[in-house]
Amino acid sequence: MNATIWILLAVLTAWVIAAVRAPGLMWAVLLAAGVVMWDAWTQPSLNLWLAVWGIFLVVVAPLAIAPLRRAFISAPLRRQFQKIMPTMSDTEREALEAGTVWWEAELFSGAPRWEKLFALPAPRLSTAEQSFLDGPVEELCALLDDWHITHERRDLPPEVWQFIKEKGFFGMIIPKKYGGLEFSAQAHSAVVMKVASRSITAAVTVMVPNSLGPAELLLHYGTDKQKNYYLPRLARGQEVPCFALTSPEAGSDAGAMPDRGVVCYGEFQGKKKVLGIRLNWEKRYITLGPVATVLGLAFRLFDPEHLLGVEEDLGITLALIPTDTHGVKIGTRHHPLDIAFQNGPNWGEDVFIPLDWIIGGQERVGQGWRMLMESLAAGRSISLPALSCGAGKLACRATGAYACIRKQFKLPIGKFEAVEEALGRIAGYTYMMDAARTLTARAVDLGEKPSVASAIVKYQLTEHMRRVVNDAMDIQGGSGICLGPRNFMGRVYQAVPISITVEGANLLTRALIIYGQGAVRCHPYVFKEMQAVADANEARGVRVFDEAIFGHMRYTLSNATRAFWLGLTAARWVRVPRSGPTGRYLQKLSRLSTAFAFISDIAMLSLGGALKRKEKISGRFADVLSFLYLASAVIKRFEDDGQPAQDIPLMRWACDYCLHEAEKTLVVILKNFPTKFFAWLMGGLVFPGGRRYNVPSDAMGHACAATLLELSAARDRLTQGMYVSKSPSDAIGRLETALPKVIAAESLERLLSKLIEQQPLLHGDHTAQVQAALAQGVLSATQAELLRAAYAARREAIAVDDFAVDKVSKKNVRRKAANKNPS
Ligand SMILES: Cc1cc2nc3c(=O)[nH]c(=O)nc-3n(C[C@H](O)[C@H](O)[C@H](O)COP(=O)(O)OP(=O)(O)OC[C@H]3O[C@@H](n4cnc5c(N)ncnc54)[C@H](O)[C@@H]3O)c2cc1C
Repeated sequence: MNATIWILLAVLTAWVIAAVRAPGLMWAVLLAAGVVMWDAWTQPSLNLWLAVWGIFLVVVAPLAIAPLRRAFISAPLRRQFQKIMPTMSDTEREALEAGTVWWEAELFSGAPRWEKLFALPAPRLSTAEQSFLDGPVEELCALLDDWHITHERRDLPPEVWQFIKEKGFFGMIIPKKYGGLEFSAQAHSAVVMKVASRSITAAVTVMVPNSLGPAELLLHYGTDKQKNYYLPRLARGQEVPCFALTSPEAGSDAGAMPDRGVVCYGEFQGKKKVLGIRLNWEKRYITLGPVATVLGLAFRLFDPEHLLGVEEDLGITLALIPTDTHGVKIGTRHHPLDIAFQNGPNWGEDVFIPLDWIIGGQERVGQGWRMLMESLAAGRSISLPALSCGAGKLACRATGAYACIRKQFKLPIGKFEAVEEALGRIAGYTYMMDAARTLTARAVDLGEKPSVASAIVKYQLTEHMRRVVNDAMDIQGGSGICLGPRNFMGRVYQAVPISITVEGANLLTRALIIYGQGAVRCHPYVFKEMQAVADANEARGVRVFDEAIFGHMRYTLSNATRAFWLGLTAARWVRVPRSGPTGRYLQKLSRLSTAFAFISDIAMLSLGGALKRKEKISGRFADVLSFLYLASAVIKRFEDDGQPAQDIPLMRWACDYCLHEAEKTLVVILKNFPTKFFAWLMGGLVFPGGRRYNVPSDAMGHACAATLLELSAARDRLTQGMYVSKSPSDAIGRLETALPKVIAAESLERLLSKLIEQQPLLHGDHTAQVQAALAQGVLSATQAELLRAAYAARREAIAVDDFAVDKVSKKNVRRKAANKNPS
């Protein structure tokens, strides 16, 4: 055997054992076997023999023998890490450690176990939950007149407030034993989505008390006394809650709030000397604040007189304060674009509260930030993702119908390629968004607090809602712009920036949370390494660090070798648990997961703590992880739905889109990677044959758009769960009425067009056209009636509102049945 074959064999063996993440001992045994064979084959001189075995013993033995490795490698390395590890504030650490990681950790690992995803049961609602959606939610939606709410009243009407409170909408997360509805996350999400498809104002009003606020915090941390008092009152709407975290000086960096509480004695309810807290605060942007009866407040607590203990700065603390407490100023409103939910500032001046108003009582003093961070994931997984899907479904159903009904250049506008392209995106994004919504709600129902997945869906679904609504506005043209009761998209358009900003503004969520937290929490070793470095117990710290750091090295090597192999073979031999239309996508996703894990590891190794400040890079990593998550949600949904043939274009469009975006973003990361050598090395390993994944094809986009332009089961599945009015006096109801009529009249219109060509005077006058066609036997009486009905329905569906010139005010609105001036 010549030297080349020896070298090839050695490289191949090393490649295979790296790929299977072989333990250090196996590396040592194989290396020893290699040296023995080399020895037998070449019969080296004694000096060379001694030198080779000497090197082997000095280098390999300490690596393979754990006690030696710990003493001579891991312990000194750990000391170095202790010196260079970036410092972290308490609020940063608590945010990082909060919540759990779930499916996204599999995607982060480089070798996702797809069986775990498919083992999750498909989302289902209980009979009681479905009855609530079919009953009270349907009734509420029918009650909502969004134009009246947003323009005329700038609030929900009293009967709607009453209905929401009475039917338990504020108590969806409260257990039945306290009088709440005790809904699953899936049902909670379905309720918010349906209401959002009708009125964003009503949806925000319903979602806030069920998201991060007094009820959620009381459930997890409240004392029994607090739970028994507040939860039943919140469940039946006797109390309206709000939660105040944001201050003028502390928005995204809410942990830096200047709002202060000082522990002291004071007078309370007639008692002269009560141990409590004197509070001063200034908060803004607080949803439901102006009408709240109980205010959840976050503040920093100080104990200068050491009345509670030795510490002076006790940290962020949360309390529940009745809004009629002396010194609380609340009730004025902000004007969040034209969406009319209650939102406003509040202040407290020397407000004295007893210690037992602290959520969880005295033992929870200073734990506020941890409590908030731990409770954030559930609400963030549900509220805004549901609202985004409500908007997406509305665009699919209503703008899709509009594109079929509205004709220009003698054709439905949906038939023009430019409009069709936008419709294809609306359908594809919505399919993807809804898949991610249900998958993430499933995680919450399984008891997870998915901190990274919830940030992914909050960010990605609101961003894609923005794209869907922009496309819908383009298609609606003037009818999306002229506000009034007929306009169903204008208010949604105005609501987009709100959803982008709240519950973690998107720029920050993308740049800091998804990957920042993901890299630490989802990575199989980084969190363990950090904990081991910080461990005060030296022996335990070294042992755990040793396991983590060497596990990490094997993991990186394995991902590097796998990434190259999968790149070379286009991942065709990856074993996945599905062979149908989704099988190939699973293989491609496995490939990108490996590439992501490898590049991310090299970025962490080479940039270390500086990565925290490189938000462009961490934001792009966030995107890759997000698109892997979204694509896996799409596949799960398609499988859960029973692989309907009609949905294949939607599934394919969404998967192709996600794969393309993820791959493209990895390339952008490499192009901008600070160390060019690493970028070159990673590029060669990960993309040996260049980029592979294209944007969804035009044919696929055409098929997705077609879903929105025809009455089909796929259209119903895509828009399932939104509110669909059947009323002919309602904006959506008009489209629903017009669409089947317009579709049924299509062939008759073609007959008529020949007639018009022959008799130009008929141009523009539908009544005369139908009459002439009837007289000349081109149409039967029934057909003429069908056509008349279609024209009338189309006219109604495309009409926009106009108002008296001097009276475009809230009160004096003149509604017209049809637009008389089509210019
Ligand atoms: C309609 C509405 C309702 C709200 N409801 C409530 C409520 O009920 N209770 C409550 O407490 N708060 C509420 N908020 C506050 C909301 O959570 C904050 O608006 C949000 O945290 C952003 O704070 P800010 O508006 O002060 O923006 P800023 O913090 O000034 O941020 C401005 C921009 O800078 C970006 N940014 C900031 N820091 C970073 C960073 N490190 N990296 C990258 N980007 C960064 C942000 O993403 C954002 O895009 C509400 C806000 C609105 C508008």
